[in-house]
Amino acid sequence: MIMLFKNVELYTPEYLGHMDVLVIGDKIGKISENIEVEQGMFDKSLISVVDCTDYIMIPGLIDGHVHLLGGGGEGGYKTRTPELMLSDLILGGITTVVGCLGTDGISRTMQSLIAKAYGLREEGVSAYVYTGSYRLPLATVTGSIQQDIRMIDPVVGIGEIAISDHRSAAPTFEELAKAASDARVGGILSGKAGLVNIHLGDGKDMMRYLFEMQEKTELPYAQFLPTHANRNGSLFKEAIKYAKGGGYIDFTTSTVPLFIEDGEVPAAKAFIDCLNEGVSPYHVTFSSDGQGSLPIFDSSGALSGLDVGKSSSLFGALQTLVMDMGCEIEKALLPVTKNPAKLLKLLNKGEIKANSDADMVLVTKDTFEIRSVYARGVAMMENGILLKKGTFEK
Ligand code: ZN
Repeated sequence: MIMLFKNVELYTPEYLGHMDVLVIGDKIGKISENIEVEQGMFDKSLISVVDCTDYIMIPGLIDGHVHLLGGGGEGGYKTRTPELMLSDLILGGITTVVGCLGTDGISRTMQSLIAKAYGLREEGVSAYVYTGSYRLPLATVTGSIQQDIRMIDPVVGIGEIAISDHRSAAPTFEELAKAASDARVGGILSGKAGLVNIHLGDGKDMMRYLFEMQEKTELPYAQFLPTHANRNGSLFKEAIKYAKGGGYIDFTTSTVPLFIEDGEVPAAKAFIDCLNEGVSPYHVTFSSDGQGSLPIFDSSGALSGLDVGKSSSLFGALQTLVMDMGCEIEKALLPVTKNPAKLLKLLNKGEIKANSDADMVLVTKDTFEIRSVYARGVAMMENGILLKKGTFEK
C-alpha cells in the first residue's frame, strides 16, 4: 500500500513547514515539498492520497509505561484493574507501547504480559515489555535478567522496580545495582536499551538510590528512567536536581483531582517547570501509567479509594502543553516521541523521517485534537472514526 499525505504541516518533532509525506508499506518513503506519484507506475487501487490541508502531522506517541494486563489489586482481588484494549491506545494517538506488571507479580505473569504484547502487535501497534514487577529479586521468564533481554524479542528492559514505596520489596542498594548491571549487559549484548524503569513511591528516601548509583557505580544515567517523578512536590524538586545533574525523569500523566490537591504536579506543568529550571527538554519523558491503579491511602495506610489510569491521558498532557500552556509544539512533542524512542533504543520510532516506521497522527490545527492515526502504515483511525478495534471490542 502507498499513501501520499498532501500539504500537511509537519512536526517531525522538528517543524518542517508544509510538506508532502509518502508512505510505502510500513515505512516513511520520502518527505518533500511536492511529491507526485507517476501515473502508471502503480495500480491505482494501491495508492491512497490524503488531503491534509487542515491538519498538523506529528509522530505516533510512545507510551513507555502501561499496565497492559491491568494492575493494582491494592484493595483485594476485586480491585485488580482491567486489561488494556487496542482502542485505548489508538484513541490516544499511541502507536508504540511498553507494558509492565506492577505491584502484583504473582497473579499477573510475565508470560501473560509477553503474550499480550504479541497480541497487540498482531492488532497493528508496536508493543514491548519490561521484565519483572515491583519486586527484587526480579521475577523473570527464563530465570535471568540477561537471558530475558537477550532471548525474548519484546523485552527491552526491567521494571517497574519499586523504591521508596510501602509496596516495594524494600530492596537494598546493592540488589538494585546488581539488577541494573545485568540489564545493562543484557542490553549491550542484544542491541536493546536494557532500560531500568523505576517506580518512585512517596517514601522519604525518594531518589536516594539513583543519586548513589551515579556516585558508586559505573552505570550511566541513560540506563535508568525513574517514573512518577511528579507524584509530590518534594519528589519533583529532587527529580529536577537529578535531571539537571544529567539524569532522565518520567512524569505520569494519569491522575485524579484528589492527587493534584494532595500535591501531585500535573505532567504538563512539571515539564514547563523543568524547562524554567534549566532542565534539558531531552531529559524528560511522559508515560500514562495506563490501566494502572490510582490508589488513595488514608493517613493510617488503609485504602480509601481507587481509580484506573488512562492511556489517553498521554495525549491530554500534550494537548494541555500546546493549547493551555503555550508550549511550542516541537518542544511539547519531545517527552512523548523522540525522547522515549531514544532511551528505549527504538531506532525507527519517535520521528517522522525517511525509513522510519510510518507511525503518524493527524491533529486539527485550531483545537489540536486527534483526527487520524496510522500505525506502521495502516490507518487505525481516520477523520475521527476508529477503523481498527481490538479482537474482542465491539
Ligand atoms: Zn508505578
